[in-house]
Amino acid sequence: MPRIKLKNLWIWLWDQIKRGTAFRNFFITRNAWGAFSINSHINQTSGKPKIMYNTKETARKSAEKMSLKHGKHFSYYKCLFCDGYHIGKNRDNK
Ligand SMILES: [Zn+2]
Repeated sequence: MPRIKLKNLWIWLWDQIKRGTAFRNFFITRNAWGAFSINSHINQTSGKPKIMYNTKETARKSAEKMSLKHGKHFSYYKCLFCDGYHIGKNRDNK
């Protein structure tokens, strides 16, 4: 089982703060806490790690494409369990 890496925790936290959504995500929608679940790294359907994007920029672009393709909001987030980024639907993270 992958474990949360402290290094990634700081990158993730800083990203939340920079986006200005930290307060809302932690205390209002509580979405942020989902990042601590292994489900943010593992695809629950397949049981395998989600597609990993090496940079925030590629993750952001892919999220935009997915949003257009599926007509739903997809967002990217820093993964705490690996060194990359993943994208997910609105409810996972924003
Ligand atoms: Zn991951």
